[in-house]
Amino acid sequence: MGNHRAERGSRRSTSAAGPVAGKRRAATPQRTLIPRALPSAPLIAGVAVLAVSAGGAVSAADAGSQRTSDGVLRAAGAISSAAGTEALSRREAVVSRDSHREAADEAADAELVALAEKQAAAHQARLDAIRQAAEKQAAKIKENKWVLPMSSYSLTATFGEYGLWASYHTGLDFNGDSGDPIMAVANGTITSTGYDGSYGNKTVLTLDDGTEIWFCHQTSIHVSVGERVNGGDVIGTVGTTGNVTGSHLHLEVRPGGGGPVNPFDAFVEHGIVP
Ligand SMILES: [Zn+2]
Repeated sequence: MGNHRAERGSRRSTSAAGPVAGKRRAATPQRTLIPRALPSAPLIAGVAVLAVSAGGAVSAADAGSQRTSDGVLRAAGAISSAAGTEALSRREAVVSRDSHREAADEAADAELVALAEKQAAAHQARLDAIRQAAEKQAAKIKENKWVLPMSSYSLTATFGEYGLWASYHTGLDFNGDSGDPIMAVANGTITSTGYDGSYGNKTVLTLDDGTEIWFCHQTSIHVSVGERVNGGDVIGTVGTTGNVTGSHLHLEVRPGGGGPVNPFDAFVEHGIVP
């Protein structure tokens, strides 16, 4: 029994020792593997770092060749290479500018002077054109500007009034004394003179733009048909001929020889308030 026990025990022990030894044996290579594995990871990393740092160009070339398989990365590479070329050409430009600075400066100066002269001439030509246009416009304004038909007067009846007239008052009345001079309101030609019913002695001055000015109730007429007159020229005198209640100049404005318009507005349009 004891033997059996011993045997059992020994067997048990051996059987027990077996697994223990087996465990130890199994544990031993595990323990040896762990220390090997732990330093091996930094070692591999170190080798990788060394490989990259040692042959940067090579690794970069490798990376480049790998990237060329990718379309997007290749495009990026193309851009970076284009930028590199541009930078290089800039550098070359700077270098050439430095080496030929004096010659380039002289050429640039001459070019700038020529350009400035050309621009100044063009500017002057533009100014001349503007001045000429302004003078032409000023002359036109002066030509179109009217003057008052009498030097002293008061307005006694305005355009469109109803009263003494058959329909309405077709002109503007400048009250004055008989014999007061009447002046042409602008440049033009005398196209009619003579007695005209209720208008009395009437002179028609046709301005250069075709507008007729009628001067009525005159005592005397100082111009004749076809005569050329300028604004301010005396063409006759104030009177009482025709239908009047007192001495005055009845003045009418008829654009294009048509119907009468408000003389007051016509004067204002031509630069003067009667
Ligand atoms: Zn009148």
